[in-house]
Amino acid sequence: MKQATPSNINSPYTQLKSLNIGDCQWTDGFWADKFKLCANAMVPYMADVLCGDVGHALNNFKIAAGEKQGEHQGMFWHDGDFYKFMEAKTYVYAQTQNNELLKELDEYIEIISKAQETDGYLQTQIQLREGVDRYENRKYHEMYNTGHLLISACIHYRVTGQRNFLDIAIKHADLLYTIFMPDTKHYGRFGFNQTQIMGLVELYRTVGDKKYLALAEKFIDYRGKYEVKHHPTTEGYPIGDMVQERTPLRESNEAVGHAVLALYYYAGAADVYAETGEKALIDALDRLWENVTTKKMYVTGAVGQAHYGASVNRDMIEEGFIDAYMMPNMTAYNETCANLCNAMFSYRMLNLKGEAKYADIVELVLYNSALSGISVTGKEYFYANPLRMLNNTRDYHAHENVTETPNREPYLSCFCCPPNLVRTIATVSEWAYSLSENGVTVNLYGANNLVSQLQDGSPIKISQETAYPWQGTVKLNIEECKADAFTIGLRIPKWAENTTLTLNGEKLTNSLTPGSFAQIERNWKNGDVLVLDMPMEVEFVEGHPRIEEVRNQIAIKRGPIVYCIESPDLPENTGILDIYFNGNKKLEPTYQPDFLGGITTLEGEVLIRKDKGEGIYRTVQKPEWTPYKTQLVPYFAWSNRGQAEMTVFMPVVWED
Ligand SMILES: [Zn+2]
Repeated sequence: MKQATPSNINSPYTQLKSLNIGDCQWTDGFWADKFKLCANAMVPYMADVLCGDVGHALNNFKIAAGEKQGEHQGMFWHDGDFYKFMEAKTYVYAQTQNNELLKELDEYIEIISKAQETDGYLQTQIQLREGVDRYENRKYHEMYNTGHLLISACIHYRVTGQRNFLDIAIKHADLLYTIFMPDTKHYGRFGFNQTQIMGLVELYRTVGDKKYLALAEKFIDYRGKYEVKHHPTTEGYPIGDMVQERTPLRESNEAVGHAVLALYYYAGAADVYAETGEKALIDALDRLWENVTTKKMYVTGAVGQAHYGASVNRDMIEEGFIDAYMMPNMTAYNETCANLCNAMFSYRMLNLKGEAKYADIVELVLYNSALSGISVTGKEYFYANPLRMLNNTRDYHAHENVTETPNREPYLSCFCCPPNLVRTIATVSEWAYSLSENGVTVNLYGANNLVSQLQDGSPIKISQETAYPWQGTVKLNIEECKADAFTIGLRIPKWAENTTLTLNGEKLTNSLTPGSFAQIERNWKNGDVLVLDMPMEVEFVEGHPRIEEVRNQIAIKRGPIVYCIESPDLPENTGILDIYFNGNKKLEPTYQPDFLGGITTLEGEVLIRKDKGEGIYRTVQKPEWTPYKTQLVPYFAWSNRGQAEMTVFMPVVWED
């Protein structure tokens, strides 16, 4: 069984099941191009970085294995980032069957296996530091590294059938069980960035041992059941809401704290729910998902509004959620990992509940605040993804050399985001469809071939032809299927008003409600052709009136793509804050195959404000504007033409 994550084929409390890895392959267009780039540039480049002296991640394992002299380098979570990279490589192997990749993975695993201690412990950031004990301070991110180890090893086993990586993971998880399952010592409040919950559930699903599920659940049960005060185990990092430990998950109403920590935690809890069906858990996850996506999320699907802030309980927080509707553009943190975690959590909720609104968020993130994390060449990365960039504000940022950079960088010393994004691009074809009780759902559109089996074991082959996301017509050819009736569910995105659907040229009368699945149940036959036509209008989007930061401003969206304006498309020396938009003007979509990896730009004009004021407050009269013919580019494709100023939201005027 080669099921993708979450490997939920036997999970009792889930509506939809993941595809097997490799069952869906992109054939052409947007995602096929991204996958090719992933296989040919992103993964090989990342291998050079992480296995060489710049990234030093493999070196850490080699030193721990006794094969090399030196010190641990990189962040405490560097092992985890290497496991994510290995996961990406495994997905690429699954699709390409390139045996070189398998060989390289075996070489890494050999080194990792030598680095592992005899009792199963494996954390090079601790093993290579003098005077630091195991599981004595959560800032060392042991749980994070563990989670990524378990997931990567499970994927490797499912794809290759080899046990070499899986056995390392089992040994490691068994140690974790002996230490954390008993109610001893300070372990009740241990865990920072709790990826281990997802990892333990995946391990349970892969090897069938219930103790891993019990331990995953225990990590949720522990949290929030103790007095929140500093302790030797927490020195060096904020506590309380920052790490979602002030309120037990089952009682939580609001997403708080570090956005990556929160969303990995929720995603892990969603995995636990898929196995246990506990109502209090899913009720909390429903509330948290609504809170994130309707009160604290950017128009790009990004999350984590601030680098520094506080929760309503007056806990200091970093890189995370602040108050509802408090959505700064320029200083938005929006870590690529947080955005990806929003998609991962939403993807799990889609599986649990089978509702299209979750897939809408997955899509929004993927096309906007995920892909913005990597350049069109696949070799430079953004960590933070603000919605506006000004040249003269860079000195605001405290961590310019680590996280908040004006340009994408070829290496980030905090390297969590790049492999997280690359493994997602490598596996996103598995998210395109899910298996429903008696049929399939089409979650994401893109030219592909699906060769799979329905849950009853009957073969299903569908080919999808489309130029999505640049055009809204999607043709699905049913190439092989069972004779009995089954259901194909087509996601009608929330933005896709007036969508039509035809079967073999005849219009289907099913009501197509944006934001839901159109479920077509019938006796399908080979050669059936479904054509979905989603009109892709250019839309102006405003924020909720309570988002003060975007009052009287609009973002521009077409289909799932959010656009921006950036300085290479403006006259020299034009400040981005002088750009306005005339809401009465039309924008014309134009596909440009050789520009920024092949994108649709929006051609039209913006207004450049000419009059200048001074001081923090100024008297104002009707400003002077000069129209300027230019283009908008997709937000994800900004910052590929040198250092630029950029904005997603523009002030709007409505002039004839
Ligand atoms: Zn990250």
